[in-house]
Amino acid sequence: MSALLDLTVLELGRAIRKGEVSPVEAVRAALAVAGDGCGGAFISLDAEEVVKRAKALENGAKKIENPLFGVPMALKDNICFTGLPTTCASEMLKNFRPPYDAYVVERLNNAGAICLGKTNMDEFGMGSTGETSVFGPVVNPWSPDRVAGGSSAGSAAAVSRGGCWYALGSDTGGSVRLPAAFCGLTGIKPTYGTVSRCGLVAYASSFDQIGPLSRDAADCAAVLDVIQGHDCRDSTSLPGAYGYLLAGLTGDIRGMRIGMPVQSFGDELDPEVRARVSEVADVLRNRGAVVEECELPALEYAVSAYYVMACAQAGSNLARYDGVRYGHRAPGCANPEELHMQSRTQGFGAEVKRRILLGTFVLSAGYYDDYYRKALMAREQIKQEFSRLLERYDLLLTPVAPGPAPRLGESLNDPKRMYLSDIYTVCANLTGLPALSMPCGFHSCGVPVGVQLTGPALGEDKVLNAAHAYQQETDWHRRRPECFGKGGTDRWSGRR
Ligand code: GLN
Repeated sequence: MSALLDLTVLELGRAIRKGEVSPVEAVRAALAVAGDGCGGAFISLDAEEVVKRAKALENGAKKIENPLFGVPMALKDNICFTGLPTTCASEMLKNFRPPYDAYVVERLNNAGAICLGKTNMDEFGMGSTGETSVFGPVVNPWSPDRVAGGSSAGSAAAVSRGGCWYALGSDTGGSVRLPAAFCGLTGIKPTYGTVSRCGLVAYASSFDQIGPLSRDAADCAAVLDVIQGHDCRDSTSLPGAYGYLLAGLTGDIRGMRIGMPVQSFGDELDPEVRARVSEVADVLRNRGAVVEECELPALEYAVSAYYVMACAQAGSNLARYDGVRYGHRAPGCANPEELHMQSRTQGFGAEVKRRILLGTFVLSAGYYDDYYRKALMAREQIKQEFSRLLERYDLLLTPVAPGPAPRLGESLNDPKRMYLSDIYTVCANLTGLPALSMPCGFHSCGVPVGVQLTGPALGEDKVLNAAHAYQQETDWHRRRPECFGKGGTDRWSGRR
Protein backbone atom coordinates (compact mmCIF):
# COMPACT_ATOMS: atom_id res chain seq x y z
CA MET A 1 0.00 0.00 0.00
CA SER A 2 1.24 3.45 -0.84
CA ALA A 3 2.01 5.59 2.22
CA LEU A 4 0.44 8.50 0.33
CA LEU A 5 -3.01 7.08 0.95
CA ASP A 6 -2.72 7.67 4.66
CA LEU A 7 -2.20 11.42 4.27
CA THR A 8 -5.02 13.92 4.74
CA VAL A 9 -6.09 16.19 1.90
CA LEU A 10 -4.14 19.06 3.42
CA GLU A 11 -1.00 16.96 3.87
CA LEU A 12 -1.09 15.54 0.36
CA GLY A 13 -1.90 18.95 -1.14
CA ARG A 14 1.06 20.50 0.65
CA ALA A 15 3.41 17.74 -0.53
CA ILE A 16 2.19 18.21 -4.11
CA ARG A 17 2.61 21.98 -4.04
CA LYS A 18 6.12 21.59 -2.66
CA GLY A 19 6.93 19.19 -5.49
CA GLU A 20 7.57 16.23 -3.15
CA VAL A 21 4.75 14.21 -4.68
CA SER A 22 3.38 14.50 -8.21
CA PRO A 23 -0.34 14.44 -9.02
CA VAL A 24 0.31 11.40 -11.23
CA GLU A 25 1.81 9.49 -8.29
CA ALA A 26 -1.20 10.39 -6.15
CA VAL A 27 -3.61 9.32 -8.89
CA ARG A 28 -1.86 5.99 -9.41
CA ALA A 29 -1.89 5.23 -5.69
CA ALA A 30 -5.62 5.90 -5.48
CA LEU A 31 -6.42 4.04 -8.71
CA ALA A 32 -4.83 0.87 -7.31
CA VAL A 33 -7.66 0.86 -4.77
CA ALA A 34 -10.50 2.65 -6.55
CA GLY A 35 -10.01 0.72 -9.79
CA ASP A 36 -10.03 -2.62 -8.00
CA GLY A 37 -13.64 -3.05 -6.90
CA CYS A 38 -13.32 -0.97 -3.75
CA GLY A 39 -16.25 -2.74 -2.10
CA GLY A 40 -18.74 -1.49 -4.68
CA ALA A 41 -17.88 2.14 -3.97
CA PHE A 42 -17.50 3.25 -7.60
CA ILE A 43 -20.00 3.17 -10.44
CA SER A 44 -17.65 4.48 -13.09
CA LEU A 45 -14.10 5.64 -13.51
CA ASP A 46 -11.86 6.31 -16.47
CA ALA A 47 -8.28 5.62 -15.40
CA GLU A 48 -6.73 6.89 -18.63
CA GLU A 49 -8.51 10.23 -18.50
CA VAL A 50 -7.62 10.68 -14.85
CA VAL A 51 -3.92 10.12 -15.49
CA LYS A 52 -4.14 12.57 -18.42
CA ARG A 53 -5.68 15.22 -16.18
CA ALA A 54 -2.99 14.65 -13.54
CA LYS A 55 -0.24 15.00 -16.16
CA ALA A 56 -1.82 18.19 -17.49
CA LEU A 57 -1.85 19.67 -13.99
CA GLU A 58 1.72 18.55 -13.44
CA ASN A 59 2.95 20.16 -16.64
CA GLY A 60 0.68 23.19 -16.41
CA ALA A 61 2.42 26.54 -16.68
CA LYS A 62 0.91 27.92 -13.51
CA LYS A 63 0.51 25.97 -10.32
CA ILE A 64 -2.73 26.74 -8.51
CA GLU A 65 -2.21 27.77 -4.90
CA ASN A 66 -5.09 25.77 -3.46
CA PRO A 67 -4.97 23.00 -0.84
CA LEU A 68 -6.95 20.79 -3.24
CA PHE A 69 -4.51 21.19 -6.14
CA GLY A 70 -3.61 17.78 -7.57
CA VAL A 71 -5.53 15.83 -4.89
CA PRO A 72 -7.77 13.05 -6.33
CA MET A 73 -11.39 12.97 -5.20
CA ALA A 74 -14.67 11.29 -6.17
CA LEU A 75 -18.18 12.55 -6.87
CA LYS A 76 -21.49 10.99 -5.90
CA ASP A 77 -23.20 9.81 -9.07
CA ASN A 78 -25.96 12.42 -8.85
CA ILE A 79 -23.52 15.29 -9.44
CA CYS A 80 -23.07 16.19 -13.11
CA PHE A 81 -19.57 15.72 -14.46
CA THR A 82 -19.04 15.78 -18.21
CA GLY A 83 -16.24 13.22 -18.07
CA LEU A 84 -18.45 10.29 -17.03
CA PRO A 85 -22.13 9.23 -17.00
CA THR A 86 -24.36 10.50 -14.17
CA THR A 87 -26.66 7.60 -13.37
CA CYS A 88 -28.08 8.33 -9.90
CA ALA A 89 -27.60 4.56 -9.55
CA SER A 90 -30.84 4.12 -11.49
CA GLU A 91 -31.82 2.18 -14.59
CA MET A 92 -33.64 5.39 -15.55
CA LEU A 93 -30.41 7.35 -16.08
CA LYS A 94 -28.01 4.50 -16.82
CA ASN A 95 -26.97 6.08 -20.13
CA PHE A 96 -27.14 9.74 -19.19
CA ARG A 97 -24.06 11.79 -19.98
CA PRO A 98 -24.46 15.34 -18.70
CA PRO A 99 -23.71 18.11 -21.21
CA TYR A 100 -22.35 20.36 -18.46
CA ASP A 101 -20.46 20.24 -15.17
CA ALA A 102 -22.20 20.97 -11.88
CA TYR A 103 -21.27 24.27 -10.23
CA VAL A 104 -19.27 22.42 -7.57
CA VAL A 105 -17.34 20.57 -10.28
CA GLU A 106 -16.48 23.86 -12.01
CA ARG A 107 -15.18 25.21 -8.73
CA LEU A 108 -13.17 22.08 -7.99
CA ASN A 109 -11.72 22.08 -11.51
CA ASN A 110 -10.63 25.68 -11.11
CA ALA A 111 -8.90 24.72 -7.86
CA GLY A 112 -6.94 22.01 -9.68
CA ALA A 113 -8.82 19.04 -8.24
CA ILE A 114 -8.80 15.67 -9.99
CA CYS A 115 -12.04 13.71 -10.26
CA LEU A 116 -11.20 10.03 -10.10
CA GLY A 117 -14.68 8.62 -10.58
CA LYS A 118 -18.37 8.57 -9.73
CA THR A 119 -19.54 6.83 -6.59
CA ASN A 120 -22.34 4.41 -5.87
CA MET A 121 -25.42 5.55 -3.97
CA ASP A 122 -28.99 4.72 -3.12
CA GLU A 123 -31.11 5.19 -6.24
CA PHE A 124 -31.77 8.95 -6.62
CA GLY A 125 -30.51 9.39 -3.03
CA MET A 126 -33.45 7.53 -1.57
CA GLY A 127 -32.25 5.34 1.25
CA SER A 128 -30.09 5.26 4.35
CA THR A 129 -28.03 2.16 3.67
CA GLY A 130 -26.56 2.32 0.16
CA GLU A 131 -28.50 -0.78 -0.88
CA THR A 132 -31.13 0.57 -3.30
CA SER A 133 -28.60 1.11 -6.12
CA VAL A 134 -29.25 -0.69 -9.40
CA PHE A 135 -25.52 -1.54 -9.36
CA GLY A 136 -25.74 -3.44 -6.09
CA PRO A 137 -24.91 -2.48 -2.50
CA VAL A 138 -21.82 -0.82 -1.07
CA VAL A 139 -20.01 -2.82 1.60
CA ASN A 140 -18.98 -1.28 4.92
CA PRO A 141 -15.17 -1.11 4.90
CA TRP A 142 -15.04 -2.04 8.59
CA SER A 143 -17.30 -5.06 8.36
CA PRO A 144 -18.18 -6.69 5.03
CA ASP A 145 -21.55 -7.96 6.19
CA ARG A 146 -22.78 -4.48 7.12
CA VAL A 147 -23.96 -1.49 5.09
CA ALA A 148 -21.83 1.60 4.48
CA GLY A 149 -24.78 3.94 5.21
CA GLY A 150 -26.68 5.95 2.66
CA SER A 151 -27.32 7.45 0.46
CA SER A 152 -23.75 8.68 -0.27
CA ALA A 153 -22.50 5.16 0.47
CA GLY A 154 -19.87 4.95 -2.26
CA SER A 155 -18.42 8.38 -1.44
CA ALA A 156 -17.90 7.28 2.16
CA ALA A 157 -16.59 3.81 1.35
CA ALA A 158 -14.20 5.20 -1.28
CA VAL A 159 -12.55 7.61 1.17
CA SER A 160 -12.59 5.12 4.02
CA ARG A 161 -10.86 2.43 1.93
CA GLY A 162 -8.21 4.79 0.56
CA GLY A 163 -9.70 5.01 -2.95
CA CYS A 164 -9.49 8.82 -2.86
CA TRP A 165 -8.76 11.56 -0.32
CA TYR A 166 -12.18 13.17 -0.17
CA ALA A 167 -15.50 12.86 -1.92
CA LEU A 168 -18.63 14.89 -2.43
CA GLY A 169 -21.99 13.53 -1.36
CA SER A 170 -25.43 15.07 -1.21
CA ASP A 171 -27.52 15.30 1.93
CA THR A 172 -31.31 15.51 1.77
CA GLY A 173 -32.03 13.90 5.13
CA GLY A 174 -28.64 12.70 6.33
CA SER A 175 -26.97 11.20 3.29
CA VAL A 176 -23.57 12.74 3.94
CA ARG A 177 -23.61 12.36 7.72
CA LEU A 178 -24.97 8.83 8.04
CA PRO A 179 -22.41 7.14 5.77
CA ALA A 180 -19.68 9.31 7.32
CA ALA A 181 -20.71 7.94 10.73
CA PHE A 182 -20.92 4.32 9.58
CA CYS A 183 -17.54 4.47 7.81
CA GLY A 184 -15.57 6.47 10.41
CA LEU A 185 -15.28 9.73 8.43
CA THR A 186 -15.98 13.41 8.93
CA GLY A 187 -18.79 14.79 6.76
CA ILE A 188 -20.70 18.04 6.78
CA LYS A 189 -24.03 19.20 5.40
CA PRO A 190 -23.63 22.93 4.97
CA THR A 191 -26.29 25.58 5.56
CA TYR A 192 -29.00 25.30 2.89
CA GLY A 193 -28.19 27.69 0.07
CA THR A 194 -24.44 27.96 0.62
CA VAL A 195 -23.48 25.33 -1.97
CA SER A 196 -25.15 25.62 -5.36
CA ARG A 197 -27.45 22.79 -6.45
CA CYS A 198 -26.85 23.60 -10.10
CA GLY A 199 -25.93 20.26 -11.65
CA LEU A 200 -27.11 18.17 -8.70
CA VAL A 201 -29.92 15.84 -9.78
CA ALA A 202 -32.89 16.85 -7.63
CA TYR A 203 -34.44 14.57 -5.04
CA ALA A 204 -36.22 16.94 -2.61
CA SER A 205 -35.23 20.46 -3.63
CA SER A 206 -35.95 22.26 -0.36
CA PHE A 207 -33.64 19.87 1.53
CA ASP A 208 -30.92 18.82 -0.97
CA GLN A 209 -27.44 20.13 -0.26
CA ILE A 210 -24.01 18.98 -1.43
CA GLY A 211 -21.36 18.35 1.21
CA PRO A 212 -17.87 16.86 1.57
CA LEU A 213 -16.78 13.60 3.20
CA SER A 214 -13.16 13.37 4.28
CA ARG A 215 -11.03 12.22 7.16
CA ASP A 216 -11.14 15.26 9.39
CA ALA A 217 -12.72 18.65 9.97
CA ALA A 218 -9.78 20.55 8.47
CA ASP A 219 -10.13 18.66 5.17
CA CYS A 220 -13.87 19.37 5.15
CA ALA A 221 -13.16 23.08 5.67
CA ALA A 222 -10.72 23.11 2.76
CA VAL A 223 -13.28 21.51 0.43
CA LEU A 224 -16.12 23.77 1.57
CA ASP A 225 -13.93 26.81 0.99
CA VAL A 226 -13.81 25.82 -2.67
CA ILE A 227 -17.37 24.65 -3.32
CA GLN A 228 -19.44 27.21 -1.40
CA GLY A 229 -20.43 30.58 -2.77
CA HIS A 230 -23.21 32.37 -4.57
CA ASP A 231 -24.37 30.98 -7.92
CA CYS A 232 -26.98 32.84 -9.94
CA ARG A 233 -28.07 29.59 -11.63
CA ASP A 234 -29.54 28.32 -8.34
CA SER A 235 -32.40 30.55 -7.17
CA THR A 236 -31.97 29.33 -3.57
CA SER A 237 -28.26 30.15 -3.50
CA LEU A 238 -27.35 32.66 -0.77
CA PRO A 239 -25.68 35.83 -1.99
CA GLY A 240 -22.92 37.54 -0.07
CA ALA A 241 -19.29 37.09 0.79
CA TYR A 242 -18.26 33.79 2.31
CA GLY A 243 -15.47 33.77 4.89
CA TYR A 244 -12.64 31.25 4.67
CA LEU A 245 -13.34 28.34 6.99
CA LEU A 246 -9.92 26.74 7.02
CA ALA A 247 -8.30 29.93 8.26
CA GLY A 248 -10.71 30.01 11.22
CA LEU A 249 -9.82 26.60 12.65
CA THR A 250 -8.14 27.53 15.91
CA GLY A 251 -9.33 24.63 18.03
CA ASP A 252 -10.15 27.16 20.74
CA ILE A 253 -13.62 26.40 22.08
CA ARG A 254 -13.26 27.93 25.54
CA GLY A 255 -16.60 29.29 26.68
CA MET A 256 -18.49 27.72 23.81
CA ARG A 257 -22.00 26.66 24.90
CA ILE A 258 -23.21 23.27 23.70
CA GLY A 259 -26.69 21.82 24.28
CA MET A 260 -27.60 18.12 24.33
CA PRO A 261 -31.35 17.71 23.67
CA VAL A 262 -32.59 14.97 26.02
CA GLN A 263 -35.09 13.83 23.39
CA SER A 264 -32.14 12.76 21.21
CA PHE A 265 -31.06 10.33 23.91
CA GLY A 266 -34.35 8.45 24.31
CA ASP A 267 -35.12 4.74 24.46
CA GLU A 268 -34.57 4.18 20.74
CA LEU A 269 -30.87 4.91 21.19
CA ASP A 270 -28.41 2.01 21.36
CA PRO A 271 -26.68 2.10 24.80
CA GLU A 272 -23.21 1.88 23.31
CA VAL A 273 -23.89 4.81 20.96
CA ARG A 274 -25.23 6.77 23.92
CA ALA A 275 -22.04 6.05 25.87
CA ARG A 276 -19.72 7.08 22.99
CA VAL A 277 -21.61 10.33 22.40
CA SER A 278 -21.57 11.19 26.11
CA GLU A 279 -17.80 10.77 26.09
CA VAL A 280 -17.60 13.43 23.39
CA ALA A 281 -19.30 15.84 25.76
CA ASP A 282 -16.55 15.16 28.31
CA VAL A 283 -13.78 15.82 25.79
CA LEU A 284 -15.39 19.10 24.75
CA ARG A 285 -15.79 20.11 28.40
CA ASN A 286 -12.10 19.44 28.95
CA ARG A 287 -11.35 21.84 26.13
CA GLY A 288 -13.31 24.54 27.94
CA ALA A 289 -16.81 24.22 26.46
CA VAL A 290 -19.93 24.28 28.60
CA VAL A 291 -22.10 21.28 27.76
CA GLU A 292 -25.56 20.88 29.26
CA GLU A 293 -28.88 19.16 28.64
CA CYS A 294 -31.72 20.95 26.87
CA GLU A 295 -35.19 20.22 25.46
CA LEU A 296 -36.29 19.56 21.87
CA PRO A 297 -39.84 18.19 22.15
CA ALA A 298 -40.65 18.62 18.43
CA LEU A 299 -38.11 15.92 17.57
CA GLU A 300 -40.96 13.43 17.70
CA TYR A 301 -42.45 14.94 14.51
CA ALA A 302 -39.21 15.15 12.56
CA VAL A 303 -39.21 11.84 10.70
CA SER A 304 -42.90 12.04 9.73
CA ALA A 305 -42.64 15.64 8.56
CA TYR A 306 -39.47 14.90 6.62
CA TYR A 307 -40.82 11.84 4.79
CA VAL A 308 -44.10 13.51 3.86
CA MET A 309 -42.29 16.52 2.40
CA ALA A 310 -39.37 14.62 0.87
CA CYS A 311 -41.68 12.18 -0.91
CA ALA A 312 -43.95 14.99 -2.14
CA GLN A 313 -41.00 16.86 -3.63
CA ALA A 314 -39.52 13.65 -5.03
CA GLY A 315 -42.84 12.85 -6.69
CA SER A 316 -42.81 16.11 -8.58
CA ASN A 317 -39.07 16.18 -9.32
CA LEU A 318 -39.16 12.69 -10.76
CA ALA A 319 -42.17 13.40 -12.97
CA ARG A 320 -39.75 14.59 -15.66
CA TYR A 321 -38.55 11.04 -16.32
CA ASP A 322 -41.24 10.17 -18.80
CA GLY A 323 -39.29 8.24 -21.41
CA VAL A 324 -39.87 11.07 -23.88
CA ARG A 325 -37.81 14.03 -22.73
CA TYR A 326 -35.68 12.36 -20.07
CA GLY A 327 -34.50 8.96 -19.01
CA HIS A 328 -34.97 5.36 -20.01
CA ARG A 329 -37.30 4.77 -22.96
CA ALA A 330 -39.12 1.44 -22.95
CA PRO A 331 -38.83 -0.30 -26.33
CA GLY A 332 -41.76 -1.49 -28.46
CA CYS A 333 -44.60 0.56 -26.95
CA ALA A 334 -47.80 1.03 -28.98
CA ASN A 335 -48.83 4.49 -27.75
CA PRO A 336 -47.63 7.39 -25.56
CA GLU A 337 -49.51 6.20 -22.45
CA GLU A 338 -47.90 2.80 -22.64
CA LEU A 339 -44.50 4.35 -23.30
CA HIS A 340 -44.84 6.56 -20.23
CA MET A 341 -45.98 3.74 -18.02
CA GLN A 342 -43.51 1.14 -19.23
CA SER A 343 -40.54 3.53 -19.13
CA ARG A 344 -41.23 4.40 -15.51
CA THR A 345 -42.06 0.81 -14.55
CA GLN A 346 -38.78 -0.40 -15.98
CA GLY A 347 -36.65 2.62 -15.04
CA PHE A 348 -37.37 3.04 -11.34
CA GLY A 349 -36.58 0.63 -8.52
CA ALA A 350 -38.92 -0.39 -5.69
CA GLU A 351 -37.88 2.27 -3.15
CA VAL A 352 -38.21 5.10 -5.67
CA LYS A 353 -41.67 3.87 -6.68
CA ARG A 354 -42.72 3.70 -3.04
CA ARG A 355 -41.68 7.34 -2.56
CA ILE A 356 -43.48 8.51 -5.71
CA LEU A 357 -46.67 6.77 -4.62
CA LEU A 358 -46.43 8.21 -1.13
CA GLY A 359 -45.63 11.68 -2.47
CA THR A 360 -48.51 11.64 -4.92
CA PHE A 361 -50.84 10.48 -2.17
CA VAL A 362 -49.93 13.21 0.34
CA LEU A 363 -50.35 15.90 -2.31
CA SER A 364 -53.68 14.61 -3.64
CA ALA A 365 -56.71 16.90 -3.26
CA GLY A 366 -58.44 15.00 -0.46
CA TYR A 367 -55.34 14.48 1.66
CA TYR A 368 -53.23 17.62 1.25
CA ASP A 369 -54.51 19.18 4.46
CA ASP A 370 -54.16 16.00 6.46
CA TYR A 371 -50.56 15.35 5.49
CA TYR A 372 -48.65 17.99 3.56
CA ARG A 373 -50.04 20.99 5.40
CA LYS A 374 -49.49 19.29 8.75
CA ALA A 375 -45.94 18.46 7.77
CA LEU A 376 -45.35 22.14 6.93
CA MET A 377 -46.63 23.07 10.38
CA ALA A 378 -44.41 20.51 12.06
CA ARG A 379 -41.43 21.80 10.08
CA GLU A 380 -42.17 25.31 11.31
CA GLN A 381 -42.35 24.13 14.91
CA ILE A 382 -39.06 22.27 14.59
CA LYS A 383 -37.46 25.38 13.06
CA GLN A 384 -38.68 27.53 15.93
CA GLU A 385 -37.42 25.13 18.57
CA PHE A 386 -34.01 25.02 16.93
CA SER A 387 -33.75 28.78 16.63
CA ARG A 388 -34.74 29.18 20.27
CA LEU A 389 -32.11 26.63 21.33
CA LEU A 390 -29.48 28.26 19.17
CA GLU A 391 -30.05 31.57 20.89
CA ARG A 392 -28.87 29.90 24.10
CA TYR A 393 -26.29 27.54 22.65
CA ASP A 394 -23.58 27.80 20.02
CA LEU A 395 -24.01 24.17 18.99
CA LEU A 396 -26.14 21.12 19.63
CA LEU A 397 -24.61 17.71 20.25
CA THR A 398 -26.54 14.54 19.30
CA PRO A 399 -25.95 11.07 17.91
CA VAL A 400 -26.00 10.67 14.11
CA ALA A 401 -27.93 7.40 14.08
CA PRO A 402 -29.80 5.45 16.76
CA GLY A 403 -27.62 2.36 16.27
CA PRO A 404 -24.57 0.98 14.48
CA ALA A 405 -24.55 0.23 10.73
CA PRO A 406 -27.21 -2.46 10.07
CA ARG A 407 -26.41 -5.77 8.43
CA LEU A 408 -26.75 -5.90 4.66
CA GLY A 409 -30.30 -6.78 3.63
CA GLU A 410 -31.83 -6.06 7.04
CA SER A 411 -33.35 -2.68 6.16
CA LEU A 412 -34.51 -3.54 2.66
CA ASN A 413 -37.29 -5.65 4.11
CA ASP A 414 -38.22 -3.10 6.73
CA PRO A 415 -38.43 0.38 5.15
CA LYS A 416 -40.13 1.91 8.18
CA ARG A 417 -37.21 0.99 10.37
CA MET A 418 -34.87 2.51 7.80
CA TYR A 419 -36.88 5.75 7.81
CA LEU A 420 -36.76 5.91 11.61
CA SER A 421 -32.97 5.66 11.57
CA ASP A 422 -32.94 9.19 10.09
CA ILE A 423 -34.45 10.77 13.20
CA TYR A 424 -31.37 12.77 14.25
CA THR A 425 -30.18 13.81 10.81
CA VAL A 426 -33.38 15.06 9.14
CA CYS A 427 -33.65 18.02 11.56
CA ALA A 428 -30.74 19.83 9.90
CA ASN A 429 -32.50 19.49 6.54
CA LEU A 430 -35.89 20.55 7.86
CA THR A 431 -34.28 23.65 9.40
CA GLY A 432 -31.57 24.25 6.77
CA LEU A 433 -28.90 24.37 9.50
CA PRO A 434 -25.31 23.15 9.09
CA ALA A 435 -24.52 19.79 10.72
CA LEU A 436 -21.39 17.68 10.89
CA SER A 437 -20.77 14.03 11.65
CA MET A 438 -17.45 12.72 12.94
CA PRO A 439 -16.18 9.46 14.41
CA CYS A 440 -16.14 9.12 18.21
CA GLY A 441 -15.32 5.47 18.86
CA PHE A 442 -16.46 2.00 17.91
CA HIS A 443 -19.42 -0.24 18.54
CA SER A 444 -18.76 -3.74 19.88
CA CYS A 445 -19.95 -5.10 16.51
CA GLY A 446 -16.82 -3.60 14.95
CA VAL A 447 -18.08 -0.53 13.09
CA PRO A 448 -17.42 3.14 13.89
CA VAL A 449 -19.90 5.30 15.82
CA GLY A 450 -20.52 8.92 14.81
CA VAL A 451 -21.50 12.05 16.70
CA GLN A 452 -23.33 15.05 15.23
CA LEU A 453 -22.78 18.76 15.83
CA THR A 454 -25.45 21.18 14.58
CA GLY A 455 -24.85 24.91 14.40
CA PRO A 456 -26.76 28.11 13.61
CA ALA A 457 -27.37 29.16 10.00
CA LEU A 458 -24.01 30.03 8.41
CA GLY A 459 -22.31 28.70 11.56
CA GLU A 460 -20.06 26.25 9.68
CA ASP A 461 -17.07 27.94 11.33
CA LYS A 462 -18.32 27.04 14.82
CA VAL A 463 -19.26 23.50 13.86
CA LEU A 464 -15.92 22.82 12.19
CA ASN A 465 -13.93 24.47 14.94
CA ALA A 466 -15.54 22.33 17.65
CA ALA A 467 -14.92 19.21 15.54
CA HIS A 468 -11.32 20.32 15.01
CA ALA A 469 -10.85 20.82 18.76
CA TYR A 470 -12.24 17.32 19.37
CA GLN A 471 -9.94 15.84 16.73
CA GLN A 472 -6.91 17.48 18.31
CA GLU A 473 -7.75 15.54 21.51
CA THR A 474 -8.67 12.17 19.97
CA ASP A 475 -7.50 9.90 17.19
CA TRP A 476 -10.69 8.13 16.03
CA HIS A 477 -10.41 9.95 12.71
CA ARG A 478 -6.95 8.44 12.20
CA ARG A 479 -8.12 4.82 12.46
CA ARG A 480 -8.17 2.87 9.19
CA PRO A 481 -10.07 -0.33 8.42
CA GLU A 482 -8.20 -3.53 7.65
CA CYS A 483 -9.05 -3.29 3.95
CA PHE A 484 -7.48 0.17 3.77
CA GLY A 485 -5.42 0.62 0.63
CA LYS A 486 -6.33 -2.78 -0.75
CA GLY A 487 -9.37 -2.53 -3.03
CA GLY A 488 -11.40 -5.72 -3.07
CA THR A 489 -14.39 -6.91 -5.01
CA ASP A 490 -16.46 -8.33 -2.16
CA ARG A 491 -20.13 -8.33 -3.14
CA TRP A 492 -19.34 -6.14 -6.13
CA SER A 493 -22.04 -6.53 -8.73
CA GLY A 494 -21.74 -3.30 -10.66
CA ARG A 495 -19.78 -2.27 -13.71
CA ARG A 496 -16.45 -0.56 -13.64
N1 GLN B 1 -32.46 8.49 4.18
C1 GLN B 1 -33.12 9.67 3.76
C2 GLN B 1 -34.05 9.39 2.63
O1 GLN B 1 -34.06 8.31 2.16
C3 GLN B 1 -32.12 10.73 3.37
C4 GLN B 1 -31.48 10.47 2.08
C5 GLN B 1 -30.63 11.60 1.63
O2 GLN B 1 -30.17 12.42 2.42
N2 GLN B 1 -30.44 11.69 0.31
O3 GLN B 1 -34.78 10.22 2.20
